[in-house]
Amino acid sequence: MIGTLDAKIPHGPLDQKWRSHRDHSRLVSPNNRRKFEVIIVGSGLAGGSAAATLGELGYRVKCFCFQDSPRRAHSIAAQGGINAAKNYQNDGDSVYRLFYDTIKGGDFRSREANVYRLAEVANLIIDQCVEQGVPFAREYGGLLANRSFGGAQVSRTFYARGQTGQQLLLGCYQALCRQIAAGAVQMFPYTEMLDLVIVDGEAKGIITRSLRSGKIDKHAADAVVLATGGYGNVFYLSTNARGSNVTATYRAYKRGALFADPSFTQIHPTCIPVSGEHQSKLTLMSESLRNDGRVWVPKRKEDREKAPDEISETDRDYYLERKYPSYGNLAPRDISSRAAKEVCDEGRGVGPGKRGVYLDFADAIKRLGEDTIRERYGNLFEVYDKITGENAYKLPMRIYPAVHYTMGGLWVDYNLMSNVPGLFVIGEANFSDHGANRLGASALMQGLADGYFILPYTLPNYLAGQMGKRPSADSPEFQKAESEVQGRIKKILDVDGKRSLDSFHRELGLLLWDKCGMSRHEKGLREALQKIPELREQFWRDVRVPGDGEDFNQSLERAGRVADFLEFAELMCTDALARDESCGAHFREEHQTPEGEALRDDENHATVFAWEFQGDDRIGSPKLHREPLHFETVHLTQRSYK
Ligand SMILES: Cc1cc2nc3c(=O)[nH]c(=O)nc-3n(C[C@H](O)[C@H](O)[C@H](O)COP(=O)(O)OP(=O)(O)OC[C@H]3O[C@@H](n4cnc5c(N)ncnc54)[C@H](O)[C@@H]3O)c2cc1C
Repeated sequence: MIGTLDAKIPHGPLDQKWRSHRDHSRLVSPNNRRKFEVIIVGSGLAGGSAAATLGELGYRVKCFCFQDSPRRAHSIAAQGGINAAKNYQNDGDSVYRLFYDTIKGGDFRSREANVYRLAEVANLIIDQCVEQGVPFAREYGGLLANRSFGGAQVSRTFYARGQTGQQLLLGCYQALCRQIAAGAVQMFPYTEMLDLVIVDGEAKGIITRSLRSGKIDKHAADAVVLATGGYGNVFYLSTNARGSNVTATYRAYKRGALFADPSFTQIHPTCIPVSGEHQSKLTLMSESLRNDGRVWVPKRKEDREKAPDEISETDRDYYLERKYPSYGNLAPRDISSRAAKEVCDEGRGVGPGKRGVYLDFADAIKRLGEDTIRERYGNLFEVYDKITGENAYKLPMRIYPAVHYTMGGLWVDYNLMSNVPGLFVIGEANFSDHGANRLGASALMQGLADGYFILPYTLPNYLAGQMGKRPSADSPEFQKAESEVQGRIKKILDVDGKRSLDSFHRELGLLLWDKCGMSRHEKGLREALQKIPELREQFWRDVRVPGDGEDFNQSLERAGRVADFLEFAELMCTDALARDESCGAHFREEHQTPEGEALRDDENHATVFAWEFQGDDRIGSPKLHREPLHFETVHLTQRSYK
């Protein structure tokens, strides 16, 4: 039974909460730190930075990832940049403005205290990464350069061409390697967490499977940190790495951790459109491109077959500039995505399938020259060329929205601890600070804030009371969880059906995209809630998973993840149905302003929705807990980017 959801937000003025919280948190003395073992699942930017920092502090860390190396975490894909309010541009930025933009960008569905702390800590991240040697872009005089991202009227995004995630991850990985070499961090690559172990109500370990040998292992610790990334791949097609999944967080949910706002999914406006039925992955074209690219479609349907250069300036509709003159092409992602869908629904989309809009650099090239554009975005233009065979210096890119990021995740309090004591959740895996819509370049900021600067204070506060409480990995709770994991693997292999795994996953993804994607309505969600259990039932009757569990078996790995997606999808739709309002990326068609923007219901829904699992026989009926959001500093207003 879970009582009132207490976010444990410290008292006091907003700008002093974090400092005062740190000053009053319990510490673990240096000579005691080596007595504590911490499990970190995930070694992307969030998990990698946490493991390196806790190792440096003197804790013994076991870090797990399913890839062959931490360097292959999905974080490496991040292209455009990372935000911080350094105000190097002298354009009016401040911690308060970053805080306000993030709260407003999330359509007032995140916690003030968390977001303010994030904005404060962001500046430290840039300093830390520069010290590590991350090659951020610089101005001619040597100062770090910035560009603009959606939802802000200042330039606060630090970047390393279109490879910011890769460079940040290499910096983080160096710090992690130092701790691996020092023996403080033990790395477990190719290892998948399949269950969380709870002893006397506290998270004390995990069950893993080696993806090379199939061996199941039990690991006990004093605390468990999940940094397992987002679950956008529930939609099958997304910009996420193919391996990204929901298994770790979903199985923690099944052990009692609350899942918050699971239906809050970010659909990114600038991705390469779907090209055919056999595609398994979508490619992002970074939002940074909207600094210089102009988005348009033909004004008239009849012109959509024409080549772009045959459509005159007066026959083009630069719809973002027209609808949102203050932010123009840098309107936030949810709004830009819906605007693209709207013009395509009107029949004005371009390219094969007619689900595409132009992102055009002709003006910028005329103004700045091709070399400048190449310098800023060269590798993104190359990616585009490789995938589409088109030269975007000569022709406009064609783009369309695609699933990109998940704002939902396990519920955590101000300390980043879930409702299960000892279970911490960081990075994209938690329900995060982004409310109903994340602003561009803020995920890297949050993951690194959590790992480098927040968890290292809040985790010791918990550990200080845990001395000598680590259970043995042979205790009955571990044995029971291990045999349940083995049972689940056997159950999947025993199906021995005929239908491919991908066909189930693709069908689920299409259903979600249709009913719980860029826009949702009650009828569609109810249909999805009826179809998902049917599809799940077919899966358990007819899925084909070749091979066995005793060896390297990628079909088995993926089958476990798809089985979890098939349950989790129901939770997403349940959440989307229960949130009877529109906010940010959660656009319920029944609730819109006369201009077609999201219409919130602050009176009834200014809350986090946190769901509690009720058992395998009640997958579709989780229990809802609410955490009211209190706004003491900002005024709730109708979001406007006009
Ligand atoms: C194409 C693309 C571009 C992006 N660009 C930007 C950008 O420019 N700026 C920005 O701010 N954000 C960007 N984002 C978002 C950002 O990259 C992610 O939100 C962020 O990197 C997530 O980091 P993470 O550490 O939380 O998770 P991840 O990097 O996804 O790492 C997850 C880790 O968990 C491990 N793991 C997962 N499940 C298990 C399990 N069951 N057992 C063991 N290990 C497990 C994985 O092996 C991995 O190590 C982009 C996203 C995409 C898709």
